[in-house]
Amino acid sequence: MKVIDHITQANDTLVSFEILPPLKGKNISSLYQNIDPLMEFKPAYINVTYHRSEHIFKKKLDGTFEKVEIRKRPGTVGICAAIMNHYKIDAVPHLICGGFTRRETEDALIDLNFLGIDNVLVLRGDATKSESSFEPEPEGHKYAIDLLRQVKDLNHGIYLEEDIRDGFKTKFCIGVAGYPEKHFEAPNLQSDMDYLKLKVEAGADYIVTQMFFDNSKYFSFVQQCRDAGITVPIIPGLKPITNKKQLNVISRIFHVDFPPELSNEILRCKTDEDCEIVGTEWLIAQSRELKNAGAPVLHYYTLGKPKVIYNTVKAVF
Ligand code: FAD
Repeated sequence: MKVIDHITQANDTLVSFEILPPLKGKNISSLYQNIDPLMEFKPAYINVTYHRSEHIFKKKLDGTFEKVEIRKRPGTVGICAAIMNHYKIDAVPHLICGGFTRRETEDALIDLNFLGIDNVLVLRGDATKSESSFEPEPEGHKYAIDLLRQVKDLNHGIYLEEDIRDGFKTKFCIGVAGYPEKHFEAPNLQSDMDYLKLKVEAGADYIVTQMFFDNSKYFSFVQQCRDAGITVPIIPGLKPITNKKQLNVISRIFHVDFPPELSNEILRCKTDEDCEIVGTEWLIAQSRELKNAGAPVLHYYTLGKPKVIYNTVKAVF
């Protein structure tokens, strides 16, 4: 079932979870162990992130370095199919521009369609560690909107090979990313909002936000979207804080702010266990407020912290 249908048919706020594929070398059972307890909350769907390959320099025995390609977390599509089969719920694969040519994207979409997956979250992806800024593949997409248009084309039966006539029309429901605190490359929130609006006009069915720790950022983002004429559901993305290091790491990687009340309390904690208690309480308060305000779905970035998410969702729903 499509994410948008879950939302329109629901009478109350839904729950969804986002997971990462296991590290290469790990079994899928490690993932099931994390998801199993969360199934008690009957999530509407589970998102699975996509991780592209990276080039690293590996030291050889003779002291020289060789450039090797590694992919730490393969398996997004396989995991989506496994989740759908194992738990009988919908899975939403993340599909990115980075590392894909248009042809590879088309083949990936065909695979998803054959597997009965009707949902995709389309994203640009970030620059790899060896790039100073995002570089599309020579035959790939530069922005999420270009990828979105390709998915829409397939929904209309338009394939890259022009001689395919009456091509099968897929029926992907498409989500896109939105940034309450602005995407880090955007010169200002207005410009980011303009591009977000274009993604919605090009056919995005809903928006999922980057994580935020201050609900007022989400509420004003939603208001700005509505003022700009964006009417699709806007799903808040929520992540727990469980240690002090995250204050710097999350700010640096995701470009989001921490309200001083939260960061001060985390800094006062003596152990990670104390941080986890503070982080859980904060997440519960955030979740309750968002649910009371009628957010369509609370989307939790579980990222290997199923216990915190379990305790939060148990307290809120
Ligand atoms: P875009 O919408 O393409 O925007 C990128 C930047 O370009 C923005 O600054 C925007 O304002 C600007 N822009 C957009 N369109 C245009 C245009 N036509 N012309 C000029 N400028 C434009 N990354 C992964 O690698 N794998 C994942 O699984 C993943 N999951 C994510 C899930 C969520 C909910 C979120 C919020 C992010 C996720 N990301 C993931 C990270 C994401 O790939 C990065 O944030 C990336 O830098 C931007 O992606 P986007 O889809 O928002 O890009």
